[in-house]
Amino acid sequence: GYKKVLEENRKLYNQVQDLKGNIRVYCRVRPLRRQANGLSTVDHIDEGNITIITPLKYGKEGRKSFTFNKVFGPSASQGEVFSDTQPLIRSVLDGYNVCIFAYGQTGSGKTHTMIGPNDLTEETMGVNYRALSDLFMISEQRKDIISYDVSVQMIEIYNEQVRDLLVTDEIRNCSHKGLIVPDANIVPVKATSDVINLMNLGQKNRAVGSTAMNDRSSRSHSCLTVHVQGKDVASGTTLHGCMHLVDLAGSERVNKSEAVGERLKEAQHINKSLSALGDVISSLAHKNSHVPYRNSKLTQLLQDSLGGQAKTLMFVHMSPEHDAIGETISTLKFAERVSSVELGAAQANKESADVKELKEQIAILKAALARKE
Ligand code: ADP
Ligand code: MG
Repeated sequence: GYKKVLEENRKLYNQVQDLKGNIRVYCRVRPLRRQANGLSTVDHIDEGNITIITPLKYGKEGRKSFTFNKVFGPSASQGEVFSDTQPLIRSVLDGYNVCIFAYGQTGSGKTHTMIGPNDLTEETMGVNYRALSDLFMISEQRKDIISYDVSVQMIEIYNEQVRDLLVTDEIRNCSHKGLIVPDANIVPVKATSDVINLMNLGQKNRAVGSTAMNDRSSRSHSCLTVHVQGKDVASGTTLHGCMHLVDLAGSERVNKSEAVGERLKEAQHINKSLSALGDVISSLAHKNSHVPYRNSKLTQLLQDSLGGQAKTLMFVHMSPEHDAIGETISTLKFAERVSSVELGAAQANKESADVKELKEQIAILKAALARKE
């Protein structure tokens, strides 16, 4: 009866998700800066492909194409960029672990995607806010069936050292087990506004740790983790899911001759941790038997949320100016390496006939379910 339909529905949903893959890479190009005089390195963008103009070689311009699960051009709104992320939020509430990363060189739009511009409006809110408001909205819809407790942590990783960003006199250290950083504060929240307050506190604490004129935020990873504990009202069984929203350190390489002392050390740590992350996601995407989690703090902390049943989404950002072309190429190559999309498979993001058929079946089952309710 009812239960069987539900089960069937879920199985089909999982099959569809499997076909889409647990690792997705989206590319986002930010608008050109005014000083660039309208000259962009982007030649062409369509749904899943981007072609860039590579520097002059033998007097000729080159072209290079990359394929991802999706490519968002400079005019894509925050809402559009988030729209495909919604199923992930639902799966956190179903008890899955999810990681969402923002990757790219400094100034390419990572923080814009995750948080938004300084003068935030409903329109310009980034992924973090949208994810949380969706999460609270869905948990409210389900409240008669499942009751949810939500709590957050916020940490920073700088030079392979982890720092708790949610420290104030008011926040008491509550002990919870199985968290990414066992001794970082975990704060219960009831609404999106609670999380916004905590994020602001985290940003403030982050700034305190940086020396003047030293933009630490571009050289450290920050991670907002949302823990969700759901309890089935009827049976009392519990489920646990979590979502990590990670604004990564800038991926640019520093000039070898320029970097000395602290700056060199930072650069080496960033390099190491970003390539470790790339190695982990790449081996998951290619279904390798060995996944090298232990090569960096970041991948160690996120181990439970990378691979297995967990879902990963990476937003890869690029700056379209010509003086960024070197970094742009290495960014896109990194992205291609971590992507499970077949190289050159321009149709990869198009739905296969199987997915279409499954979706139709789901629609039919959903209608059947709605009739029963
Ligand atoms: P990052 O965090 O990668 O260093 P930022 O998110 O701070 O980069 O973006 C650099 C600048 O570009 C900021 O002023 C930001 O507001 C702007 N920007 C980035 N992406 C977009 C976008 N998609 N639309 C409009 N402005 C953007
Ligand atoms: Mg930033």
